[in-house]
Amino acid sequence: MFEYAPAPESRSIVDLRASYGLFVDGEFVDGHGSSFKTINPATEEVLAEVAEADDADVDAAVRAARRAHTRVWSRMSGSERAKYLYRIARIIQERGRELAVLESLDNGKPIKESRDVDVPIVAAHFFYYAGWADKLEHSGYGTTPLGVAGQVIPWNFPLMMLAWKVAPALACGNTVVLKPAETTPLTALLFAEICQQADLPPGVVNIVTGAGGTGQALVAHPDVDKVAFTGSTEVGKAIARAVAGSSKKVTLELGGKAANIVFDDAPLDQAVEGIVEGIFFNQGHVCCAGSRLLVQESIAEELLAKLRTRMGTLRVGDPLDKNTDVGAINSAEQLQRIRELSQVGEDEGAGRWSPPCELPERGFWFPPTLFTGVTQAHRIAREEIFGPVLSVLTFRTPSEAVEKANNTPYGLSAGVWTEKGSLILHMAGALKAGVVWANTFNKFDPASPFGGFKESGQGREGGRHGLAAYLRGGDL
Ligand code: NAD
Repeated sequence: MFEYAPAPESRSIVDLRASYGLFVDGEFVDGHGSSFKTINPATEEVLAEVAEADDADVDAAVRAARRAHTRVWSRMSGSERAKYLYRIARIIQERGRELAVLESLDNGKPIKESRDVDVPIVAAHFFYYAGWADKLEHSGYGTTPLGVAGQVIPWNFPLMMLAWKVAPALACGNTVVLKPAETTPLTALLFAEICQQADLPPGVVNIVTGAGGTGQALVAHPDVDKVAFTGSTEVGKAIARAVAGSSKKVTLELGGKAANIVFDDAPLDQAVEGIVEGIFFNQGHVCCAGSRLLVQESIAEELLAKLRTRMGTLRVGDPLDKNTDVGAINSAEQLQRIRELSQVGEDEGAGRWSPPCELPERGFWFPPTLFTGVTQAHRIAREEIFGPVLSVLTFRTPSEAVEKANNTPYGLSAGVWTEKGSLILHMAGALKAGVVWANTFNKFDPASPFGGFKESGQGREGGRHGLAAYLRGGDL
């Protein structure tokens, strides 16, 4: 029994305002449109009222970005741009606790993740791309920026997705208009404050908050040179259609249905940790979540027994409590989707199991859930649930594992657990996935390219490859 219970991370560290405007040309301004509320998904309490940018607001932001690009940012040397990126990275570290608490409040993710994973990776991205700014001629992709980047991001890693997009864009000499997701706008607005604090020239970064319509206006704006989108495959396809025929360069990071494949020689306790990390990290709101466990038949029973025991130790609850492993589901809509697909899993005959756990009364919660006896015909084996729900399938041979793992329209990531190096290399070549982890899962590094095959998207973010998306003639 776990007894140590330190006080929750204090939310008083965050200076929440009742309402927030847009960040355009270095200033917070009122939008012309309406506003919306962003809530704490763990309590359903309203955190703040946020401006909904309309077409005129988006236009003002794009014009500010264009001016900043032409007059200031593209004229600076790489080493001058690097100074700003290093400064932003250091301020992110200094204000790390504040960013982490705000991220957990707005998103629902456990503080130990926002504090120990998200924020450090965000700072690391700014440090990493600051290092590239004056070395672009060695990237192999050229040195000419595209111009204005319109960037649209999802709610599952609000700050991290911002960093993946903003840091390389700025390093290459582009300016940015970024639209955060409507359920998690607050850390992007705190990032805007950090840009002010870093004396970033006005207009280099602009933040327009709002729902899908704001995103649509941004990606369709004629003076946007580059569209970078992370989100659902459905919206990604709509964006690809909207910009088809234009000269805009596009990168899309979309959905996934990753297989986490455990062979009979794998160190099982280590694999169980990787499976738990793969699907319960960030409540399973992860594009590369290991949402399908493929386990070799001969060890399935033993592995599942260990997995159930481990799942029984997961603590679900207050995201600000440092002991929490699984936080709140980000929105009522997402909770509804997870419930519906889980019900489909049950109706189609899969065995459903969750450890006993008391869920808070208010807020949006879903227990860690395991489905066994899943076949490829089941919808829960094919569709992205984007929640803490794991579907277990079995296989006998490596080729059957490859066939099952690849039997999805997605191709973002996969995990392989075995002691055999030759098998890892064989699987890495045979799996149609942008990332294949071996004996680990959900490991991210700014130096590693990330991106999908098939319906998981196009282009790569991260590493040297991530620069290509923001430079003229920089195609891979
Ligand atoms: P979503 O597609 O609903 O929304 C993503 C963003 O697009 C939001 O900011 C939204 O307001 C905006 N948007 C909605 N309609 C738009 C339109 N027509 N034009 C322009 N913008 C529009 O996705 P979500 O629910 O926020 O995020 C979950 C999805 O994101 C999952 O499918 C997940 O797999 C995917 N995702 C992918 C990656 C990756 O790197 N591949 C990373 C994180 C999340």
